[in-house]
Amino acid sequence: MPDDFDVIICGLGAMGSAAAYHLAKAGHSVLGLDRYQPPHTFGSSHGLTRIIREAYFEHPLYVPLVQRAYELWGDLEKESGRKLFIQTGGLMIGPPEGVLVAGAKRSAEEHKLQYELLSAAEIRRRFPVLAPDEKMVAVSEPRAGILFPELAIQTHLDLGIKYGADLRFNEPVVRWEPDGDGVRVFTASGVYSGQKLLLSAGAWVNSLLSRPGLPLTVERQILFWFEPKSSRDRFNPQICPVHIWEYARHRFFYGFPDLGDGVKVAIHHEGELTDSESISREVAAVEIENIRTILRRFVPAADGALKSAAVCIYTNTPDEHFILDYHPDHRQVLIASPCSGHGFKFSPVIGELATKLLEDKTPGFDLSLFRMNRFRTAG
Ligand SMILES: Cc1cc2nc3c(=O)[nH]c(=O)nc-3n(C[C@H](O)[C@H](O)[C@H](O)COP(=O)(O)OP(=O)(O)OC[C@H]3O[C@@H](n4cnc5c(N)ncnc54)[C@H](O)[C@@H]3O)c2cc1C
Repeated sequence: MPDDFDVIICGLGAMGSAAAYHLAKAGHSVLGLDRYQPPHTFGSSHGLTRIIREAYFEHPLYVPLVQRAYELWGDLEKESGRKLFIQTGGLMIGPPEGVLVAGAKRSAEEHKLQYELLSAAEIRRRFPVLAPDEKMVAVSEPRAGILFPELAIQTHLDLGIKYGADLRFNEPVVRWEPDGDGVRVFTASGVYSGQKLLLSAGAWVNSLLSRPGLPLTVERQILFWFEPKSSRDRFNPQICPVHIWEYARHRFFYGFPDLGDGVKVAIHHEGELTDSESISREVAAVEIENIRTILRRFVPAADGALKSAAVCIYTNTPDEHFILDYHPDHRQVLIASPCSGHGFKFSPVIGELATKLLEDKTPGFDLSLFRMNRFRTAG
């Protein structure tokens, strides 16, 4: 095999696997490197399910991107013959003036999305397993649903290989350096040349930047699967939507229907700050009790036996918007990382955009929220 590539990808998780697929499909010679063998449980992309939603409370700018992601998920399902998405609808529940409900409403209105605003009584009537406080309301959006992250990553990798990508696992990138207009990448077992480099190393990305680190935090997150205590049928994905709650000011949790593994729930943020190497993978009794306290109040029928739990990683930027931009000192290097706990749904569109940016084409989407120059330390 040649050791000179159009593009070298460092990190083949959600973003890197999607980029490998899009780049190889576009005809580029691609080398993809990962320190482990994705899909794996050490980064940010495990835990069986991820939410996709369209009325994006974080910012309306994400809506065209998620709409393109929906198209690409559909294309990927067709091309692979694999089921990667199920539509359940979604509820964003909280106080009417809270960031979740007001933000989802703003995106829905700005982009003329179909949605309903439900009162607490209406939420309880339609979805009897959900028990919002009287003053809560919900933005109900029909297109939300569930993606299967491990299968999606495997599918991007499989099809990337089909289109000729050279993917090497258990081969960590140790460092890279510019080499004229290209790059040289050093791993534990080889040195490779590329015209371009994509850094998609998720929680490890800071260790690969040849300049003072980005202001990123790595946050421990716990996923729980509970046996329904009652009303099992009502957690069926045909009638139970994915649901995100602003249960106190700026504090969130979310839940899924029961796909056979139990009812999956998790707190969004509020995790211990850590790093990708020393993170504790054990779940403490007090952490189980914390989520049970929330469930007893808002989803009491889910407060049954704990079936399993998993620890996962958020890599956060200070404003919780993504990074998708050229390295400030080296335009041949693109960074597609820190997705601040909400990036999975976008992975195919990030793969497509990374391809365009590495081809020096205009992306066709407003990516201004994702620029590096918003971080003062990154220059
Ligand atoms: C608990 C939890 C729930 C989430 N829920 C949602 C959700 O519902 N919806 C949603 O859209 N998003 C969600 N997210 C966010 C989403 O999952 C992440 O944004 C996304 O998976 C991150 O993908 P990534 O490619 O950046 O990182 P990863 O998938 O972790 O990939 C990074 C890869 O880089 C590799 N790597 C690291 N260092 C090196 C090196 N030196 N050399 C080679 N390879 C290296 C790693 O091995 C890894 O495979 C959630 C995240 C978590 C943790």
